[in-house]
Amino acid sequence: MNPDVIIIGGAAVGSAAAYFLASSPGFEGRVMVLEQDLGYEFCATARSAASIRHQFSTPGNIAMSQFGTGFLRRLPEHLSVDGEAPDVGFHEGGYLFLATAAGEAVLRENHTTQRQMGADVVLLGTAELARRFPWLHTADLAGGSLGLSGEGWFDAWALMQAFRRKARSLGVTYRQARVTALRRQGRRIAAVGLDDGSSLSAGTVINAAGTGAAALARSAGLFLPVQSRKRCVFHVTSPASLPGCPLVIDPSGAYFRPEGGGFICGIAPAASDDPECHDFEVAHALFDEVLWPLLAARVPGFEALRVQRSWAGHYDVNTLDANVILGAHPEVDNLLFANGFSGHGLQQSPAVGRALAELVTHGRYLTLDLAAFGWDRVLGGRPLVERNVV
Ligand SMILES: Cc1cc2nc3c(=O)[nH]c(=O)nc-3n(C[C@H](O)[C@H](O)[C@H](O)COP(=O)(O)OP(=O)(O)OC[C@H]3O[C@@H](n4cnc5c(N)ncnc54)[C@H](O)[C@@H]3O)c2cc1C
Repeated sequence: MNPDVIIIGGAAVGSAAAYFLASSPGFEGRVMVLEQDLGYEFCATARSAASIRHQFSTPGNIAMSQFGTGFLRRLPEHLSVDGEAPDVGFHEGGYLFLATAAGEAVLRENHTTQRQMGADVVLLGTAELARRFPWLHTADLAGGSLGLSGEGWFDAWALMQAFRRKARSLGVTYRQARVTALRRQGRRIAAVGLDDGSSLSAGTVINAAGTGAAALARSAGLFLPVQSRKRCVFHVTSPASLPGCPLVIDPSGAYFRPEGGGFICGIAPAASDDPECHDFEVAHALFDEVLWPLLAARVPGFEALRVQRSWAGHYDVNTLDANVILGAHPEVDNLLFANGFSGHGLQQSPAVGRALAELVTHGRYLTLDLAAFGWDRVLGGRPLVERNVV
């Protein structure tokens, strides 16, 4: 029997949508998730830095993460199965955005937006930064913005599996299959073609395929401005002890945070060296030549870093404005998109999963109005630019 809703991609976003739909009181249909790799080896979710922040410049992003924080704090209420509560190890360690004089005005503007949204953030001058974080080099800084609660990190794999397990317990079916094409007839997706040559149809199709989303859109004759861009993460150990270390964002864009007795860190490559990319080769030169010197300049104790492990994953980058493209394209009625997260999709998965469930069940947003993230601004060329992209 054909399902009522097909979700393409069963990682964090697809599984969050499956869970919210299946648990939605107004929804009674059958949900099927089509996932090409049930081992989830290469998806962004499994390769993420798994952190959540309220320090965005776009109010909608702040609101989505605030919902995400609340959801993580009360995870057992939402995602327990047979009395067994998931543990994603949510640690509210905070984010610390640092700014030089050149970035101070933007830091302050973002702070105003964040405070208006109720984020628990505080601006710190250099003396206060040096007092709180004596291991930090502050001479070149003008200040920083610290999240006091609600921000931190968790286990991305565990969250995805918890969504998936709960969704399955509520009747959602997961099927291993690669969707090869969306077969469109006029204003509808009439069927989705699968790699075994068969096809399925459904009342609604959700594209939660991460970096695979643009190819699916193309098969339906739609241009989705989302590209796959490589981002590498390095797990390092250091003899330096950094008490109270939050997730630190250097003015250069380099980041680091504690992880398992050491730290994870990374940096985006220069825009001129950041092509569409599908390989998983770790950019070791980026660490040696760019990241390590920046980290050692910011934390003198990092001169003696040792890389223990490293991996590459891919952001699904929305090339228009680095924000999610959410909801239906005006030319196709039964296809919903949730793509182009540009590096902040894991923390948004609860809010986006709930939003997709509302669109399917009620045809509109009931809780958070996320219309600003819809296709209109994409097709109208009106970017909703997020300034804090890490
Ligand atoms: C290095 C790195 C660090 C990150 N750090 C953070 C962070 O700290 N905080 C944060 O919030 N976000 C972070 N992100 C981003 C975050 O991981 C993603 O935005 C989020 O996981 C996206 O989830 P998704 O389910 O949309 O996509 P994915 O996790 O990529 O899943 C898409 C799924 O779709 C499947 N699929 C694709 N095409 C098809 C098809 N044709 N048929 C069937 N299945 C298909 C794939 O197999 C995959 O399982 C990071 C990403 C990376 C790479």
